[in-house]
Amino acid sequence: MADSTTSTEEYRLSGIPVSPGIVCGPLMVLTSEELLVPKNQIAPDAVSNEIARLEAALVKTRQEVMDIKAHLSASLGEKDASIFDAHLLVLEDSTLLEAVRKQIESRNLCVEIIFHHLMQNYAQSMRQTDDAYLRERAADILDVGRRVLSNLLGTTPGDKYNLEQPSIILAHDLSPSDTAMLDRSKVLGFATDIGSRTSHTAIMARSLNIPAVVGLKDASNKMARGVEVILDGHEGWLIINPTEQTKFQYGQLEHKRHQVDVQLERLKGTEAITKDGKKVVLSANVELPEDFPLIRQSGAEGVGLYRTEFLFLSRLALPTEQEQIDIYRQVIAAAAPHLVIFRTLDIGGDKMLDHMGAVKEMNPFLGWRAIRYTLERRDIFHTQLRAICRAGAGGKIRIMFPMICAFEELTQAREELASVLDELQREGVAFTRDIEVGMMIETPAAVLIADRLAKEVQFFSIGTNDLIQYTIAVDRLNEKVAYLYQPTHPSIISLINHTVKSAHDANIWVGVCGEIAGELLLVPLLLGLDIDELSMGPNFVSRAKAVIQNLKYAESRQLVAELQTLNTAGEIMERLKRVAQANFAELLD
Ligand code: PEP
Ligand code: MG
Repeated sequence: MADSTTSTEEYRLSGIPVSPGIVCGPLMVLTSEELLVPKNQIAPDAVSNEIARLEAALVKTRQEVMDIKAHLSASLGEKDASIFDAHLLVLEDSTLLEAVRKQIESRNLCVEIIFHHLMQNYAQSMRQTDDAYLRERAADILDVGRRVLSNLLGTTPGDKYNLEQPSIILAHDLSPSDTAMLDRSKVLGFATDIGSRTSHTAIMARSLNIPAVVGLKDASNKMARGVEVILDGHEGWLIINPTEQTKFQYGQLEHKRHQVDVQLERLKGTEAITKDGKKVVLSANVELPEDFPLIRQSGAEGVGLYRTEFLFLSRLALPTEQEQIDIYRQVIAAAAPHLVIFRTLDIGGDKMLDHMGAVKEMNPFLGWRAIRYTLERRDIFHTQLRAICRAGAGGKIRIMFPMICAFEELTQAREELASVLDELQREGVAFTRDIEVGMMIETPAAVLIADRLAKEVQFFSIGTNDLIQYTIAVDRLNEKVAYLYQPTHPSIISLINHTVKSAHDANIWVGVCGEIAGELLLVPLLLGLDIDELSMGPNFVSRAKAVIQNLKYAESRQLVAELQTLNTAGEIMERLKRVAQANFAELLD
């Protein structure tokens, strides 16, 4: 491969396409440090303001550390809690404040980056001493430094990623919270070394209509900032130093795609009804308020999955009940006259933040996530349910619980909701009781007891992103095993089939809100499996609608019967490709 820092010749890196679209622009290579710490120039007269911000952050952090210490003293005893004394010492160190002031004055940079570098240097020199005790304290320094930084950033949200011009972002990895905090107006596209189609960063890129490619191996190490690149989110290419001819070819492709989009515009007011009269509800998945206008623009019939956790991930402190109510009202208004399905907090896995009590786990996807988290953090769960019920005042809403694996988890979640409703009634505030309660089917365990669960809820929504990972035992984030992540694996088809039968036997409806709902090749399969609702990134709605309008339900039923006789995911996919070519070739990229 050419040396990216010197060569001006065109060359290509291949990755996994996760969000369609083609963009061309300068590359911004972000290291993890830059992701976390802004580096803004400040005016000379702003120094005292920066120092005041640091003082406030130190006071706040001191209080937090004292609280943690008090909590730990009660549960672990004074001795173990005393490890926080080292943190307190750092926070009270007046020479630190002085050093920060001097550097801000001499470099005219914001307090975050100065403080960060000082803490790094401090920790580095401690690591190099002969004293074992001091060497161990280096980790404390970094830890307390992170806390202070969080508090600093909490007072200056918005501008933290310091993107100077619209760029294509290349990073080793981008966490969902990094993504949530980037200035969207400056991000042309995303590229990462690791990741997969169902990582939450990829999901967000799709719903924000930002082209993205992941799994570029060690690209972020090799590439230099500022080079011109094309990011091809359809085929998964990062093209460095594209020639004029390459740019022209890509321009033509985009033009063709745009023409299809114009054609699809006229479908917006129509419904997804097959040629033989079977209707499927198409709804939108949304994550952040930026997505809300897309609900109506896409022609979706409401929101099939509102991933509420992104509201928590896009800020550095827990949102209050009132803040949640305000945002939830916005999404309800944006979806009207259709409904919103609020999924309660699905934190954990690849979505966690320090302020939510993140703990390092060996297997985060098998650990403390989703309903397991909220059933333990009742304070957070309770507040969220209150906010949802209050935001829905005067109307009808839907709530669903994520990652239910056991009957009693559903019982406990429903009890919490019931207690919230009683409480709101007693308080006499405005809220709604008109709530359809559902749950996600995301594990084989839930599928196998779906007949019992179906009697307790009013709908199921199948989260295939997780169902695939838990069934095939394949980490949904790991590009090394991405080849095993097969939505057409016969086991997945059987599990969806079983879920639909259990739901329909109990007279409840069932949707799919995992990424496969918006994959055009798979729509005939889901239609034939008798799914009632498909919920997908807003940008996929018109295409999926066009697919359904081109199909016959009866033929899809026959197709599924045929697919169930095949043995491999590959054979099933090949058959689905032939169906797509025969019925909606013009919609394929
Ligand atoms: C899923 O698992 O399919 C799902 C929709 O939830 P998430 O992708 O947020 O885990
Ligand atoms: Mg899931």
